[in-house]
Amino acid sequence: MSTNKTLLCLSVAVGTVEEARETLNEPTCAFDVAEFRLDFTREPDLRQLLDGRPCPVIVTNRPVREGGHWSGDERQRLAILEEADRLGADFVDVELDARPHFRRQGRARLIVSYHNFQCTPPDIRQIAKRIEATDADIVKVATMANSLADNLAIFEVLQAATKPTIALTMGEHGHVSRILAPKFGAFLVYAAPSEGRQVAPGQVPVDQMLSLYRFRQIGPATRVYGVIANPVAHSMSPAIHNAAFAHCGLDAVYLPFRVDDPAEFIPPFRRLPVSGYSVTIPHKEAVIALLDEVQPLARKIGAVNTIVERQGKLFGSNTDWSAALRAIESALPEGQGLAGRQVLMLGAGGAARAIAYGLVERGCRLVIANRTVGRAERLAGELGCRWTSLDQAGDIPYDVLVNATSVGMHPNVDATPLAREHLRPGAIVFDSVYNPIETRLLREAREAGCVVVNGLEMFVNQAVEQFELWTGQPAPREVMRSVVESRLRH
Ligand code: NAP
Repeated sequence: MSTNKTLLCLSVAVGTVEEARETLNEPTCAFDVAEFRLDFTREPDLRQLLDGRPCPVIVTNRPVREGGHWSGDERQRLAILEEADRLGADFVDVELDARPHFRRQGRARLIVSYHNFQCTPPDIRQIAKRIEATDADIVKVATMANSLADNLAIFEVLQAATKPTIALTMGEHGHVSRILAPKFGAFLVYAAPSEGRQVAPGQVPVDQMLSLYRFRQIGPATRVYGVIANPVAHSMSPAIHNAAFAHCGLDAVYLPFRVDDPAEFIPPFRRLPVSGYSVTIPHKEAVIALLDEVQPLARKIGAVNTIVERQGKLFGSNTDWSAALRAIESALPEGQGLAGRQVLMLGAGGAARAIAYGLVERGCRLVIANRTVGRAERLAGELGCRWTSLDQAGDIPYDVLVNATSVGMHPNVDATPLAREHLRPGAIVFDSVYNPIETRLLREAREAGCVVVNGLEMFVNQAVEQFELWTGQPAPREVMRSVVESRLRH
C-alpha cells in the first residue's frame, strides 16, 4: 500500500475573507493546501487573508476569459497577485497568456496555468510543454472533459511531465482525473469543502476523496475498478467495493463511470488499464461485443454484469444468476438443492432472464409469468419451459416463488406482483427488489408462513462474486452487506 505525495488542495471561493477563514477551519476538512479564489471575494484584504494561515496558500485571481469571475482591469488583476507574492503567499497562479505581464515580487512558487472550459484540445500535451518552457515552478492544465476518454489525454500530460504538474479535467467526467491524480504523480489536486460547494465543475468533496476513494493511499501501482452505467450517480457499487478494498487493505480503487456508449469507452480505457468492471443498466448487452471472451452462460443469457482484466484481455461473466440462486438456496434445508422443484417466476426482463437460465441449469421445473405475455413466451421458448400471463400466475402451484419484476420497488412500495391469497405457506418466496429491503410481497409472504429471501441477499452476493473474481480472495461479505443496508435504511 502506497502513500502518495500528491497534495490535496481545498478550493475556497467565498465572498469575504472571514468566510474564507471559517472554511479553512471546518473540522471535516483535512487538506494540505488551500487555494483562495480572489475573483470570488469582495475587496479582499490580502494581509488579513495570509496572516496566521493554517496551511500553505495558493492565491488565484482568475479572469473571465479563463473561466473565472474577474472582469475588471487586467493590470489591476495582476497587481493583486503581485501584492500577494510580496506579502508571502506560498503559491501564485498566473495564466499562461498573462505570464509575460506578471512581475515576481517575492518567493511564491509560480503556478503557470491554462484552462479550457469547452474541451480538452488535441494539443494539450504541447500546451503543457509550452508552460514547462516558461519559468513556471508548477505547470497547470485544466480542461473540460466531454468524454471519459479525455481523462486519458490528461494522464499522458502527467506521464510526460518534467516539472511538478497539475493536470485535470472538469465536468461530470472529470472526477476520474481528480481521484486518479496520485496514480500519475500529479503535484496537487483540488477538492471542494463539501457537496454543492464546488468551485470548478466535477470537483470531488474533500471527505469523499479521503474516506470513499482513499486518496492518500492511491499511487502508481493502485489497481483501478469501476462500474459502467447510465445514470451512475446513485449507484451503491463504489461505496460497497471501496469499503471492501479498504477492509482487505488492497491497493485498489473503484470509480463510477457514466458511460453513454460502451464502444467509445471500453476500447480506449484498455490503456489505463482498468482491472475490472461492474456493468449495469443499460449496458449489460452492449458490452458483450467489446470483450475478448465471454462465459458461455452469460452469452446465452445475453448479458454481462462483470468484466475481469487478465494480461490485457477482458473476460465477461454474469454473476446475477448465481447471486440470485445462492440467495434462494440459502433458504433450503441443509443439504437440499433446487433440482426438481416447481418454481413460479414473475417477470421476463433482464434480471428474469439471468435468474431463469440459472433455475433451468439447476434442474427446476419453471413457469414464467409476465405482464407482457409475448416476452414470457419468448423466454420460455428459449428455455423449453412453461409460461403464462401475470394475471393467471395465481393458478400455478409452486415450491419457490421468484419476483423478478420491478413491482413493489421504491417509490411504489404499496404494489405487489401476486395477491396475498396466492401465497402458499411453507413455500420459499424470493423478491429480487432490494429497495425496500422488505417489500409488500415479502411482508405478506412472511405473514402467510412462507420462507422469505430479500433482494439484498442477491445484491450482496453479486458484489461478493465480483470481488472474488477480481481479487482471487474471499470477499468481506459482512462489510459489504452493512454498507448496502445502511444506505438502504437512510
Ligand atoms: P426490466 O428488464 O425493465 O424488466 C422489468 C420487469 O418487470 C418486466 O418483466 C416487466 O414486465 C415487469 N414490470 C414492470 N412494471 C410492471 C408492472 N407495473 N406490472 C407488472 N409487471 C411489471 O428490469 P430488470 O433489470 O429485469 O429489473 C427487474 C427487477 O429486478 C428490478 O426491481 C431490479 O431492482 C431487480 N434487480 C435486482 C437485483 C439484485 O441484485 N437484487 C439485480 C438486478 C435486478 P413487462 O415485460 O410487461 O414490461
